[in-house]
Amino acid sequence: MSFFNKKAVPDEWKQKYLALHGEQERSGKSYQEKEDLLCKTIIRLTIATTGLDAHLDPHLQNIRDQLKNGINSQGLKDELEKFTASVAQIKHAPPQNRVADPSLLFDFLLRHYSGPTQQLALNRLKKKADTIKFETTSQLFSAIYEAIKPDSANAHDIADHVNIGVVSKQLLTLLESIEIPTLFDKQAQATKQLLAAPGQTAADFEPILDKSFKLLLKIKQHNQSEQQDIDQFLSHLTEQLAALDMSVMGASSVVQESAENRSKLNKSVSEQMEKLQLSSTNATKLEPLKELITSRLANIAREIEQHGQKEATWRQRNQQQLDDLVNKIKDMESESCELKSRLKIANNQALRDALTGLPNRNAYNERLEIELARWKRYHTPLSLIIWDIDYFKSINDSYGHKAGDKVLLLIAKQLSEHSRATDFISRFGGEEFTMLLPNTDVKSALILANQLRQIIENTGFNANDMSVIITISCGVTEFIGNDTDETAFERADQALYQAKEQGRNQCCAL
Ligand code: GH3
Ligand code: MG
Ligand code: MG
Repeated sequence: MSFFNKKAVPDEWKQKYLALHGEQERSGKSYQEKEDLLCKTIIRLTIATTGLDAHLDPHLQNIRDQLKNGINSQGLKDELEKFTASVAQIKHAPPQNRVADPSLLFDFLLRHYSGPTQQLALNRLKKKADTIKFETTSQLFSAIYEAIKPDSANAHDIADHVNIGVVSKQLLTLLESIEIPTLFDKQAQATKQLLAAPGQTAADFEPILDKSFKLLLKIKQHNQSEQQDIDQFLSHLTEQLAALDMSVMGASSVVQESAENRSKLNKSVSEQMEKLQLSSTNATKLEPLKELITSRLANIAREIEQHGQKEATWRQRNQQQLDDLVNKIKDMESESCELKSRLKIANNQALRDALTGLPNRNAYNERLEIELARWKRYHTPLSLIIWDIDYFKSINDSYGHKAGDKVLLLIAKQLSEHSRATDFISRFGGEEFTMLLPNTDVKSALILANQLRQIIENTGFNANDMSVIITISCGVTEFIGNDTDETAFERADQALYQAKEQGRNQCCAL
């Protein structure tokens, strides 16, 4: 080892020390710089996130306050922890109060500021606004102002530089150039008034900017939702029209005339619907589309009403025809009833004797047929009596034909009144009467006959104020064996003959 070498050692250490010192100094400086940068970043972050969530805002303020005590203070650490806990609670909450999508404004600005530098700056800004979003409207407008002013250098704080007059004029022009839905008319009017007379300072102007932006955003959202509204409205309309068509079809009756009217109406409705569909497909705005649809619906409604009136008239006419028909049927019914009763009367007349009112010979024949059938079927006894007034010719001769009629009437009355309800008595002809006695054998018939004969005998007849005794004779027989109406009648007639032969006023049975 040499002296120089020895001497060289302190120099080397010095150099090393100096180098180390320099390094330490640099690293200390760098550390300080880093600490400063960190503080600034935290402050920027707290400012940027202020207004994001009401719960976070007090924490952000506290963090800013604690930063004054240094980056390593326990107070800052505590506050940061509290803040982190709060952030964890709201991590899914949507951001609030951010500057909304300003694309509408950019579209407008790009149309108005056609200079290549301005276009470039605006497009760049638009892209930036799309991705990072501006914290406040002031920041956005500051950026816009920088982009559109002729000399875009030396931009500093918005509060000092933004030209309130220019921005409010631009916004006013924008609001006037776009189509404002009626829904926002009032709001737009109020905002325009504010823009026409903006506040003198940036702080005054800030709420006006916010209002303008919110309005623009609402208009944009409205226009976007309008197409959705149109679609919904159209599908609703289609359903309504379909229901309408169904009701038109349902209301129409099956009758041809009505069906013709209905098909006319259907054709018209479907034509209107086609037109509507065409207009709807081309529609981009809801309000004019609604107006169009309303007027078309009015057309349809009018046609339906006209159809309804036609149908009503038709129904009325139809009802009238139906009423007429019903009346005709009623008339026919009453006519046929009348006819029936007249027929009945005529029939009765045909079967009754006009003088005595008793069933006549025809009626006797009819009844005989029935009783004979019954006799044959049930083998119940059936007897027949033939009555003949004694010396009736002489009554006529003595007291006149009229008196003779009167006698006929009185004898008919006595025979009817004193025979049984089941016995059938008829005036067979002239002064002869017949009696059909069901369920009566010849013996009983003879007893009944004699009773009747005696009643007649005991009845005093008045002829020309003189009391005259009238007698009556009869022949009785019972249907037996293979009897027909004729054989039995002949036998009864023979018995009658016998009674006359034997002196009259008597009853004989054969
Ligand atoms: P008989 O005892 O034999 O029966 O004597 P009769 O006089 O009754 O005999 P006849 O049968 O010959 O006479 C019947 C008469 O009855 C003849 C006719 O003038 C009379 N005569 C028949 N029909 C009527 C009538 O409707 N009215 C009246 N007043 N007389 C009638
Ligand atoms: Mg006679
Ligand atoms: Mg007689």
